[in-house]
Amino acid sequence: MLQVEGLRSGYGSIEIVRGVDLEVAPGQVTALVGRNGAGKTTLVNTLMGFSPAWKGVIELAGRDVTKAPPHVRNGLGLAVVPQGRRVFGSLSVAETLALASKQGGWDFERVSAAFPRLAERRNTRARSLSGGEQSALAMARALSTGPRVLLLDEPSEGMSPHVLRSLSSVISGLAAEGAGVLLVEQNLTFALTVADRVLVMARGHIDITVSGDDARADPDALSRLLVLQTR
Ligand code: ATP
Repeated sequence: MLQVEGLRSGYGSIEIVRGVDLEVAPGQVTALVGRNGAGKTTLVNTLMGFSPAWKGVIELAGRDVTKAPPHVRNGLGLAVVPQGRRVFGSLSVAETLALASKQGGWDFERVSAAFPRLAERRNTRARSLSGGEQSALAMARALSTGPRVLLLDEPSEGMSPHVLRSLSSVISGLAAEGAGVLLVEQNLTFALTVADRVLVMARGHIDITVSGDDARADPDALSRLLVLQTR
């Protein structure tokens, strides 16, 4: 569904993503973990088209979108929950979702069932929401576009354990409906509740892939690996 080969990108003359091969398969949750600075956010931004690809190929639903702008990728079913949420503070919850909404995307009723707090806060401006509520809004905004492939960059940031449970059931539900999910997470415990596969990124490469079941069987081994990694 989303297929990436030999992807390279960076900032100025500094290469951050250094030859990434990656597949986000339909119906699967692929977790991407790695230490701070490994290049995960740069990879997500390059997949969405916010940062240009220097080399390599990004295919979405069989089409080469390597040079396509973000709105074209979104039209083909790609959506992102960006790091830091990036919601517009002056828009209310309802306005944020109405602006993003596309045919086939989640409507307000479905969003409200998944994140009841957003329904209670529907007329509240995003800037007045708590951090966890803003994270839920960023997630709901992506769902409103009806993604076939969803990129999540630390979506759990600021969420209470209760909202985290909602997030995990939304992610698993999306995959069960056939969507592909790429989940970038620092919170390993959370990532392992939903991951079918875990990819470990270091120094701009993805060197290690572990099945979700193996990672769950020995989560400490994964934690130790991350501690040992250098940037
Ligand atoms: P984190 O979990 O801390 O966000 P990450 O794995 O997502 O880490 P990136 O945010 O992709 O890593 O950062 C990779 C490298 O790129 C870091 O050295 C960072 O300082 C650098 N970097 C990130 N954004 C920019 C930018 N806009 N301009 C220049 N360098 C940047």
